[in-house]
Amino acid sequence: MLINQEFINHLTPVEVSFIRIGIEKLYKEKVRPDTTNYENVSSHVECCPHCGSVHFVKNGFNPHHRQKYRCKDCNAVFMATTGTMFTHSKTNFDTWSTFIAGELNSLTLEQQSIATGLSKTTCFNMRHKLYQAASRVQNQSILSGEVELDPTYTSINLKGTKPVKMPRYSKHRGKGRYRKQASSGNTLLGLNHHKVCIVAAIDEHDNMLFKVGGLGRESFDILNQFRDHYSSNSMIISDDSHSIQTFVSKNRFRSDIIPSNALTSPSGRSVASVNEMHTELKNLIRRKHGISTRHLQGYLDWLVFLKCLRYTLDMRKWRPEAYMMTMKEIIPFRCCDIPKKPMPISLYAAYSEYHYGIYSLIN
Ligand SMILES: [Zn+2]
Repeated sequence: MLINQEFINHLTPVEVSFIRIGIEKLYKEKVRPDTTNYENVSSHVECCPHCGSVHFVKNGFNPHHRQKYRCKDCNAVFMATTGTMFTHSKTNFDTWSTFIAGELNSLTLEQQSIATGLSKTTCFNMRHKLYQAASRVQNQSILSGEVELDPTYTSINLKGTKPVKMPRYSKHRGKGRYRKQASSGNTLLGLNHHKVCIVAAIDEHDNMLFKVGGLGRESFDILNQFRDHYSSNSMIISDDSHSIQTFVSKNRFRSDIIPSNALTSPSGRSVASVNEMHTELKNLIRRKHGISTRHLQGYLDWLVFLKCLRYTLDMRKWRPEAYMMTMKEIIPFRCCDIPKKPMPISLYAAYSEYHYGIYSLIN
């Protein structure tokens, strides 16, 4: 029997209440505390997670009675959860669902650990797998039509880096020496090359680009590395910065320039939507007490994912929809690789003054 809106509309209120009781009973029988993620993913096997081939055959069961498959092209044996964020995850469906709800509300790792009853390390790994799965939303979207473009900046954050691996000396905060030197004319604090440039753009259809661009001020190279994310009919709405205008003219985009002393262009366009993305990032960084530069791209991807959910869906559908959208994605790393993720910027370039001994001079 197919239950759709039309079918429900023809029923009387008492009949609908019968269906509701029936569905709730079915739900309770189906989703129990020991329901696994495998049960959600198992009916969605579409291709081999190793080579992407659609030619595979059933190949017996594993000791937990889960269907195994063998790829006819690369000969690999796999299961429904192989390569997804649920590989080797002992966390059940209910807890994953609670965890996703926590991420939708931007909880910190401590809060997630309390909400799910899992360790902070497990939550950390689950978070970065989830963000990776969500990143596909961003990487697939192509900006077109009116595109607001405005880069933003954040300080380099080395959270999670072991003291022995620090490329610089620790900053003494508050009343420490470093700040005193800064106020007495030392310009080391807040140098341009200590900032990470984040390229932010949004088009009229709410497609977004939110990428770690590189070190220091916006430049043609930083902007142009994401050239493929714009369609050729784009019209770039931006301020009159030289690097953006070079990017626009070299790619032959149309442009609408907002003069430096105005909030809107002569034709009335602004970069309000992209500034909203900046604000959301600043708020997220504050709520998480800083985000390490190593994992910054993951958080940007997650912010874009959240915004897409917000634009397209009723709030009550966010949690199941976020689960559905991410559950089949292939995660290209293992848990133990997450802390070793390569830095998106060169720390050597960022802290070059330490290598040239300037720091020791001013000490
Ligand atoms: Zn294969």
